[in-house]
Amino acid sequence: MDLGIRGKVAIVVASSRGLGRASAQALAAEGADLLLCARGETALRTTAADIRRTTGVRVVDVVADVGSPAGIADVVRAAEDEFGRVDILVTNAGGPPAGPFESHGPEAWETAVRTNLTSVVELVRACLPGMRARRWGRIVNITSIAVKQPVDNLILSNSVRAAVTGFARTLANEVAPHGITVNNVMPGYTRTARVEELAERTAALEGKTPEAAYEAWESQIPMGRLGEPAEFGAMVAFLCSAQASYTTGASVPVDGGWIRSLL
Ligand code: NAD
Repeated sequence: MDLGIRGKVAIVVASSRGLGRASAQALAAEGADLLLCARGETALRTTAADIRRTTGVRVVDVVADVGSPAGIADVVRAAEDEFGRVDILVTNAGGPPAGPFESHGPEAWETAVRTNLTSVVELVRACLPGMRARRWGRIVNITSIAVKQPVDNLILSNSVRAAVTGFARTLANEVAPHGITVNNVMPGYTRTARVEELAERTAALEGKTPEAAYEAWESQIPMGRLGEPAEFGAMVAFLCSAQASYTTGASVPVDGGWIRSLL
């Protein structure tokens, strides 16, 4: 299926690796030009070069921390300078640290809000006027299964992603008359570098092997395996497609069945 986004311009945030990279790759495979960003330069440059080589789309990469207003301004300015517009915005950032309530002071809460909530709000603020003017836009936020079923030991993530979901659901109604959709994709356990690091940390803490950590997660997933980043990226690309024009305000899981609720 041709997703009808050839020549559209997409900002994909936090995209040097993992779910952001997979989302960017899937959009590029459909012919969208890209603005990629991440904090670390080396991985970002490699990813941008790989996507350029394999898909032929235009890819601009900007080293930026979207946890800061300056980082957000750099990303949006680069997209405007290079492409003159933004049609698709995929928000993302590194996840907040794990740990129970007592382990996070006010600073950790402030950082989680700034990185995982304020970045979404401010990127939308910057990109929305152009989408409204052109009467076409797609906003997709990478959240987490934690929105539907909080994950133990992830109090920061569980709290902040719920706020993003409230923001997105409200915004979706406000911008729907302008041809703009706003959706969230909720990853379950997906095989990225972050999850590999988490498996190693869990193994060290609990005195077991990383394989045992994977087995414990897999036992909670009806499909019996972790997701692959490309399976996640495919859902993001579909929600950014021309065909997804009547889906808005939704949170779509890509979790192998991990969420047990009916809706
Ligand atoms: P990852 O660590 O593999 O990749 C994160 C990417 O974001 C990297 O490119 C990194 O450079 C970039 N980045 C991090 N913080 C940034 C910032 N402040 N500004 C700009 N770039 C930044 O992580 P991932 O597994 O791809 O996860 C992406 C998001 O999805 C995270 O918020 C994570 O908590 C969430 N999530 C992941 C899973 C999973 O199983 N992988 C499950 C649920 C939720």
